[in-house]
Amino acid sequence: MVVTRFAPSPTGYLHIGGLRTALFSYLWAKKNGGKFVLRIEDTDKARNSEEATQAILKAFAWLGLEADGAITYQSQRDAIYKKYIDQLLKEGKAYKCYMSKEELEALREEQIANKQRAKYDGRYRDFDGTPPAGVEPVIRIKAPTSGAIVVNDGVKGEVVFQAEDILDDFIIARADGSPTYNFVVTVDDALMGINEVIRGDDHLSNTPKQIVVYEALGFDVPKFYHVPMIHNQQGKKLSKRDGATDVMEYKAMGYLPEAMLNFLVRLGWSHGVQEIFSMQEMIELFDPKDINKSASIYNTEKLDWLNAHYIKNTPNDQLVELLHNFDLVLTSHDKKEVLLDALKERAKTLKELSEMAKEILNAPNEYDPKGVKKAFKGDAIEILETFKAKLQAANNLHLPTDYHHLIEEVVNEKEIGFGKIGQPLRICLLGKLGGPGLDVVMAIIGKEETRKRIEQALKALA
Ligand code: GLU
Repeated sequence: MVVTRFAPSPTGYLHIGGLRTALFSYLWAKKNGGKFVLRIEDTDKARNSEEATQAILKAFAWLGLEADGAITYQSQRDAIYKKYIDQLLKEGKAYKCYMSKEELEALREEQIANKQRAKYDGRYRDFDGTPPAGVEPVIRIKAPTSGAIVVNDGVKGEVVFQAEDILDDFIIARADGSPTYNFVVTVDDALMGINEVIRGDDHLSNTPKQIVVYEALGFDVPKFYHVPMIHNQQGKKLSKRDGATDVMEYKAMGYLPEAMLNFLVRLGWSHGVQEIFSMQEMIELFDPKDINKSASIYNTEKLDWLNAHYIKNTPNDQLVELLHNFDLVLTSHDKKEVLLDALKERAKTLKELSEMAKEILNAPNEYDPKGVKKAFKGDAIEILETFKAKLQAANNLHLPTDYHHLIEEVVNEKEIGFGKIGQPLRICLLGKLGGPGLDVVMAIIGKEETRKRIEQALKALA
């Protein structure tokens, strides 16, 4: 059974890069009928925050990424780590090192001066003398000093690390007894039965060390997939400026979870030229062998495009619900269907949809001077008066087409183009040029409100 995991450190918010590997891991587990588990790597007591853990869980809930089984918290597993450290000590695969910070620093300086790689020199590896007094030892693992460590990476292919170039007997437990990162990740992955690890390629350099730990403990090494980073349009690592850092900010900006997931899956993975993927399709089609070998590019326009697609395809009753978060309550508005049908075709985000709706529902409190100048030329006022008279005389105005006929009548009678009435009418109703069809706007606000807005504008602009 395939068991994957997401193992965030709760030191900051969950960002796009983390979430993407979480999604890949989730999809791969689901596709294989396996398990996707969540492990919170909260060992860094100084930098952890409960808030960040909650932010991760919230983001998962928002996106519908449900982890299987209980969440594992590393902070609760000290006894387990200690057990395995003791085991390695007992088996002679790890040892106590009494080197002081000063000694280590001196060694480092000497190596650098000799143009050597700075690394621990193994001086306590076979030590059986009397330990120096007053020094709390660290525990180091016996790492191979020669030969190669080969990672058969599912994305990168065979990656060969020469032990001599990258390893030393690295620390697995600090002087205070706390285990180190590469040690706990390995113990947990092994004990949790994780057999496929999909993570960012910023972790590739940790992998040979983790393999050393797997082998020392006699655990099977999982299959690794190191996913290339996400870059901005300039080809640099994603920074705060390129988009929101916290995934939940996307929710606040009015992105739909479906759009977010679809956007994420395409960051570094593709299936032919297909762009739109439902969750079901993602699960069916995702395969880490199709993860791109080069960095993916974060592109806001793409996210907007996807979001527009999903907004368009969201049923109106669901949109009504979602728009509550954007300060728009349409629940009992009798023209909500007309309004949403018109706006969901145009909005890139829920926030934008809400703003566009408010621009229609609320009478303008100012008139764009440029628009006014452009629209109120020649006999604009007379045309508006004619329209208003027809409006007042008309009965049974309900649908956009009813209002459209009214406009048509004026156009025909006066032998003018649509713009001649459309532009000044737009200013009256919306305060500016542009926006959705006027027939739609009038059908939404109704006859009385249309009349009022024309009068109000004529007064204000007289
Ligand atoms: N906790 C690590 C991080 O947040 C990830 C560990 C891993 O995926 O192996 O970067």
